[in-house]
Amino acid sequence: MNTTITGEILIGQRAIDNGQRTLKAVNPATGETLAPDFAQAGPAEVEQACAAAWAAFDTYRETRLEDRARFLEAIGDQIMQLGQALVDRAVAETALPAARIEGERARTVGQLRLFAQVVRAGEFLDVRVDTAMPDRQPLPRPDLRLRNIALGPVAVFGASNFPLAFSVAGGDTASALAAGCPVIVKGHPAHPGTGELVGRAIQAAARECGMPEGVFSLLLGGIETGTSLVQDARIKGVGFTGSRTGGLALVDIASKRREPIPVFAEMSSINPVFLFPAALAARAEELGKAFIGSLTMGAGQFCTNPGIVVALDSPDLDRFLKAADATLSSHVPSAMLTPGIHGAYQKGVQALETAQGVQLCARGGTGEGPNRGAAAVFSTAVSNFLSQEALQHEVFGASSLVVRCQRPEDMREIAERIEGQLTVTLHMEEADYELARGLVPILERKAGRILANGWPTGVEVAHAMVHGGPFPATSDSRFTSVGTLAIRRFLRPVSYQSLPSQLLPETLRSENLGRVSRLEDGKRLLP
Ligand code: NAP
Repeated sequence: MNTTITGEILIGQRAIDNGQRTLKAVNPATGETLAPDFAQAGPAEVEQACAAAWAAFDTYRETRLEDRARFLEAIGDQIMQLGQALVDRAVAETALPAARIEGERARTVGQLRLFAQVVRAGEFLDVRVDTAMPDRQPLPRPDLRLRNIALGPVAVFGASNFPLAFSVAGGDTASALAAGCPVIVKGHPAHPGTGELVGRAIQAAARECGMPEGVFSLLLGGIETGTSLVQDARIKGVGFTGSRTGGLALVDIASKRREPIPVFAEMSSINPVFLFPAALAARAEELGKAFIGSLTMGAGQFCTNPGIVVALDSPDLDRFLKAADATLSSHVPSAMLTPGIHGAYQKGVQALETAQGVQLCARGGTGEGPNRGAAAVFSTAVSNFLSQEALQHEVFGASSLVVRCQRPEDMREIAERIEGQLTVTLHMEEADYELARGLVPILERKAGRILANGWPTGVEVAHAMVHGGPFPATSDSRFTSVGTLAIRRFLRPVSYQSLPSQLLPETLRSENLGRVSRLEDGKRLLP
């Protein structure tokens, strides 16, 4: 396996050097620049990638399910074949530990294999048949057959904080390819070499499986590259993970096109954790320690990081904070992903330090080397939290705010007032169920995932997972970006009325109907 990183732009099966080598990879742990310099895609490369994706679309979306599933598995195999070179490069570009990168690689490959199963099962096609009723009175019913088809070429914006699982061959790419959509990735500038290695693995898999050339391209570049990609008429959907500002900018660009298109942006969440009284009384110390574990994991750079903790002001809450303080005092931070993310974290923590009515409760060590941010836990009274909207804003990194409530009703008030969230966590004992029962219907309106007696960091890739939620958690609360349901973002239904069999797609022809599950005249029939 060739693991040389050339810094070229990948379009279909080609690697292009346009001479614009303006992008550099940086090791955030040391500040050193890593070779080579990377080519920035300009309008010519965006045009070529979009043309190739469009040319591939009609062929790729009709690939046999088995062939498409094999392609997804082959991408996973090719990624594994990159071996240690991929791990080493990702560690150097992100400062994340090797064990984390290896875990993320396993998740990325597992995700691709899971989508291969989804493709083989064919249920995502949602085949429905309403058989003709020529004698129905007062009017006959025509023959109606429905299936989902792929939306079109999709632009994917890789995330900085998951260089593998949410980047070039991450969840957005895997679900779009599974749906039958060619993908053009706008690579994240924080890990260009990792991106290229994975991009070349996808190229190799596409070659091996005989996929149409434009099924995948990888472009690096700045805001102009991303903007012109989303503006291109051949792009029909966008997947994004990053900041609220970035996500909203793309939503704006997409909505102003001649043909507006959907943007599935996963943006900002503070993931409230509710500590109910009996749970705090029973295990304040254990909770305090586990909270810091979740808060500081990956330098706090998780979209599911526990950004606020809500509890009744009590000696038990003090015990919780004392345990959190003791655990945090020995914490040494690792470097954050980029100087920009580190700078934004420092600014966010500084704003909390100087905010009215906010007290610092615990602070971690500062560590040595560039881009380290000391973890921090603050607290404030419920009245103060509710009167300052800025206290609800995400501080991306290991910072959290504990909100001291006076009465159980304050917890309800907070639940009502918080913005949309990816997750909400409830720590409770049986004695807390009554209080929690009153909160759950409110939280259902606010979050994509409600979890009990755990921590929000750690998102299972599964059939029943939702990694989504109302704005600003995402730009479209009807969908998830993790788990097999993510494929739905990149599909649309088409109904075929009275089409002769010869013109129907193969899956909908009567002789093939038994191959995947279908809804026939309202009854679910299995293959
Ligand atoms: P980002 O600034 O939103 O950038 C993500 C991607 O979107 C990059 O490829 C970026 O391109 C592109 N982009 C941003 N604004 C754009 C625009 N106006 N037009 C076109 N493309 C645009 O996110 P980030 O670099 O990962 O981190 C910055 C901040 O995002 C963090 O400090 C944190 O607050 C937040 N964040 C949140 C999550 C989460 O899961 N909630 C995850 C990661 C980051 P270029 O960089 O090439 O310009």
